[in-house]
Amino acid sequence: MRFNLLEIENPMSKDRTEISDIGEFGLIDLLNQKISIKNPSTLKGIGDDAAVIDAGEHVKVLTTDLLLEGVHFDLSYAPLQHVGFKAVAVNVSDIAAMNAIPKQITVSIALSNRFSVEAVEALYSGINAAATHYGIDVVGGDTTASRSGLLISITAIGEAKKEDIAYRSGAKLNDIICVTGDLGGALVGLQILEREKQVYLANPDMKPELEKYNYVTARQLKPDARMDIIHEFRDLGVVPTSMIDVSDGLASELFHIAKASSAGITIYEDKLPIDKQTYETAVELGLDPITCALNGGEDYELLFTIDQKDFAKLEKHPDIHFIGYISKPEEGKVMVTKSGTVVNLKAQGWKHF
Ligand code: ADP
Ligand code: MG
Repeated sequence: MRFNLLEIENPMSKDRTEISDIGEFGLIDLLNQKISIKNPSTLKGIGDDAAVIDAGEHVKVLTTDLLLEGVHFDLSYAPLQHVGFKAVAVNVSDIAAMNAIPKQITVSIALSNRFSVEAVEALYSGINAAATHYGIDVVGGDTTASRSGLLISITAIGEAKKEDIAYRSGAKLNDIICVTGDLGGALVGLQILEREKQVYLANPDMKPELEKYNYVTARQLKPDARMDIIHEFRDLGVVPTSMIDVSDGLASELFHIAKASSAGITIYEDKLPIDKQTYETAVELGLDPITCALNGGEDYELLFTIDQKDFAKLEKHPDIHFIGYISKPEEGKVMVTKSGTVVNLKAQGWKHF
């Protein structure tokens, strides 16, 4: 076959569409149109936090995430152990978002010759710490060379009873919208790490002052998937009507729930959980804390909806916040501000393109 670069770049026509024109989600939708499901065991394919596969007595859930040096992490401030831990945690978070329990992972890495055996061991000490923390087995992977730094791709498999699975599509009118933990910290932490990196590059004798920002930098460098909440759901007998993890920002995730569930969204600004250090650091950086909470990425908290009958079971939980309710689709996706004004939510999200 003749090798024709022009053909590879665009085999269909002379037109060219930039990926940034349609965005990450637009691209996934486009690819999904050409994909058809052939096997009845595929209960859910593309379009949720993980695929759902019939496995007889229970179902398996399957998800994969790719982390690329220079795009998802910067080794000038992210220790390799933390990168390893985070690579596992972000996958576990997607398993949690299906209300399932993670069981196995495979780990694939590509390494440039910048990396020594000791560096890979450091990466794996983080991967193994996460595997112990979440009770999962590392069952395989792939290792290859890279021309551009470090790449880590992890695939995770989890298990659940079929009736326990929480899809993005199950939210019903008047369900209560809940979110765990607090929001915006990972974005604010990233801004601090970037700022201190620039200070260091300008003057390598300066020691970065990170103590004051310990919470937000930890939110960025070492997120913990909320498996604790999934185990509590089991204990309390609660199955969320819908769920998603907050990886791209709360507003973007609310849009996913609204679209998949054909629902409207009403949330309240004064109910958004923001940690004190996140709030103060955002203000110091000249950022609006509410915008950070709505559009900051990588918090890896859980956003879910519950039937009103389950409210009493979760009401006293110290780490679950009730931020709004599901409305009719024609009521739109709105936030009631502290002054009582109703504003349209915008899903700015965490753009990679
Ligand atoms: P999450 O943020 O929960 O990891 P994504 O936004 O990355 O989810 O993906 C949304 C859905 O699209 C998932 O079902 C995912 O498996 C699927 N997906 C993402 N990229 C691709 C791709 N290149 N080919 C097929 N499916 C994809
Ligand atoms: Mg997700």
